[in-house]
Amino acid sequence: MSSILISPVSSSTKGATQVRGACPHDCPDACALLTTVENGVATKVQGNPEHRHTDGVLCTKISRYTERTYHPERILHPLRRAGPKGSGQFERVTWDEALADIAQRLRDIAAMDPQAILPYSYCGTMGLVQGDSIAMRFFNRLGASLLDRTICSSAGVEGLVQTLGAKVGMKVEFFAESKLILIWGSNSITSNLHFWRVAQAAKRNGAKLVCIDPRRTETAEKCHEHIQLKPGTDAALALALMHELIVNDWLDHDYIARHTLGWDGLRERALRWTPERASEVCGVPVEQVRALARDYATIKPAAIRLNYGVQRVRGGGNAARAVACLPALTGAWRNRAGGMLLGSSGAFPVDRPALQRPDLLAGRAPRTINMVAIGDALARDSSEQFGPKLQALVVYNSNPVAVAPDSSKVVAGFAREDLFTVVLEHFQTDTADYADYILPATTQLEHWDIHLSYGHTDVVLNRPAVAPVGESKANTQIFRELAQRMGFDEPCFSEDDESLCRLAYGSRVDYEELLARGFSTLPIADAPFAQGGFPTPSGKCEFFSERLARQGLDGLPDHVPNYEASGTSARYPLAMISPPARNFLNSTFVNVRSLRDIEGEPLLEIHAEDAAARGITSGAVVRVFNDRGEYRCRAEVSQRARPGVVNGLGVWWRKLGLDGTNVNQLTSQNLTDMGRGPVFYDCLVEVEPA
Ligand code: SF4
Repeated sequence: MSSILISPVSSSTKGATQVRGACPHDCPDACALLTTVENGVATKVQGNPEHRHTDGVLCTKISRYTERTYHPERILHPLRRAGPKGSGQFERVTWDEALADIAQRLRDIAAMDPQAILPYSYCGTMGLVQGDSIAMRFFNRLGASLLDRTICSSAGVEGLVQTLGAKVGMKVEFFAESKLILIWGSNSITSNLHFWRVAQAAKRNGAKLVCIDPRRTETAEKCHEHIQLKPGTDAALALALMHELIVNDWLDHDYIARHTLGWDGLRERALRWTPERASEVCGVPVEQVRALARDYATIKPAAIRLNYGVQRVRGGGNAARAVACLPALTGAWRNRAGGMLLGSSGAFPVDRPALQRPDLLAGRAPRTINMVAIGDALARDSSEQFGPKLQALVVYNSNPVAVAPDSSKVVAGFAREDLFTVVLEHFQTDTADYADYILPATTQLEHWDIHLSYGHTDVVLNRPAVAPVGESKANTQIFRELAQRMGFDEPCFSEDDESLCRLAYGSRVDYEELLARGFSTLPIADAPFAQGGFPTPSGKCEFFSERLARQGLDGLPDHVPNYEASGTSARYPLAMISPPARNFLNSTFVNVRSLRDIEGEPLLEIHAEDAAARGITSGAVVRVFNDRGEYRCRAEVSQRARPGVVNGLGVWWRKLGLDGTNVNQLTSQNLTDMGRGPVFYDCLVEVEPA
């Protein structure tokens, strides 16, 4: 018999026990986990059936979490570089040796200018404690450069904030009651599995599901309709839907009058977007645009599950804004099963200042470096405009050599012999290959953490299920010990991880409930904007954003063409998007053998017409190239690709690909219209047999 533990197990626990935890990965579902532990070893990871959003079900990736935790290639000891940069040659050292040398090197650089040191981290773990608590205290105390953490969602988030006021929206569970669901820019089966289960419940209740995506994904195949538009044209489609709502008078005039701002301007803008014009721009039949508008206006309640795929293009912020305007036009927000959801994380009352202690900057205002443009940043010399040349990187919860755009520049930067690089990791990733020191970090099964979700509205607590494997230490502990060696003696560096978990929400979330159940539901109204009350400055849904206008930007949403729009280059006639391979999560899990075996090899999906025109057959190795670089992978002639668009599935580790590169060899460091985000899906290429 197994039992669910109220207190954490120690490594000496006998018999089978179950420990409550949280999935740490960059996924909206934030599942509640149950880890079975036998004799101090985690033997199984399952979904917690008591947590309604998880419902006892995990995706394939996390179901194999023990394989990852006890992986034979797990880094178990501190390692010091023993060969040229990037050679991947390391020697084992003690923690004392590693930390003493790292502290000395950082002290020496900081003595000249601490801004020459840059922390680089993202959502390798979504945990608030192992993400950025002691780590941010450390870098704030040091006065290091700040990192603009933009690599995933910042354009969409900014678009949402400028329209609805915050990262808020429908409660995911009420999609089950919707009668029309637009799944917009999301391969939910792969990247939002538990939403897909809710959408299936709606489908069983008679709902119509429409997928809007340039790729014919697994999700698109299972929806009633697929609108396969060109990449970067989502705002044009949304504006044409508005056009049809206006000319057919399918509007909720009362809701618009009471709860929106800027209607006259938006109306005028939308009337320029006839279905014919949108059809031309989006590359979808005009009748499909009209029919979608009719469905959206007449099938009620209608809900939109927007995801971050739409905003990885130049006009990503505008696209999110345009889509976010739609529910206010029809008054869909009046019903709890109507409205839209891009992200829910704005609903979580996290006390970030308490965790990160910006007061430790003590009045200093370090420069900020955008993580998207790390390739360029590493190449820059000291200057008045840039500040000091980067001399040290401390990387945790991220694998920038694989995931940052324009890889050849990123690699060149990491290969600088004069750059001192420390990487906290579980495995010897592409980034770790370039480290001077690799420090072994614990996995989620070995440390405390506390989580928010960007897909539901429950806080989830993670208890350690087993003792740290090998000599690994939690990120927090590594930064605590580094702080001590740097002479940072503020009491905040001594707070333990469970205290930090308590601190994350303070009294705003019942920590005793988290201890007892593993999760706690935020008290949020079922239909949060039924009576308006948007968290914008005006309290309304802001079709027109005064804040954007003050920045010199367009105050109304519009279609902003891609930097590299389809049909604008004779040399590079194919648009490339790089959605995630189904069994990977960003670059995590690529080294888990059973998952990599399912994926096989790096793939480029190409439509039969484009393949035939180039003499490419399924299974052939192809060369994908543009002015930024080239990448070899295997072609798959597939209906998943639309004509003129190829899908380079990511994000493979470079060293596990065919030629030591991955798809980011081709992507650019350009930034989005708002939010300073990346444009991974705004990329023209050509393909030829290798
Ligand atoms: S579905 Fe998402 S949150 Fe749930 S286990 Fe998988 S990666 Fe984690």
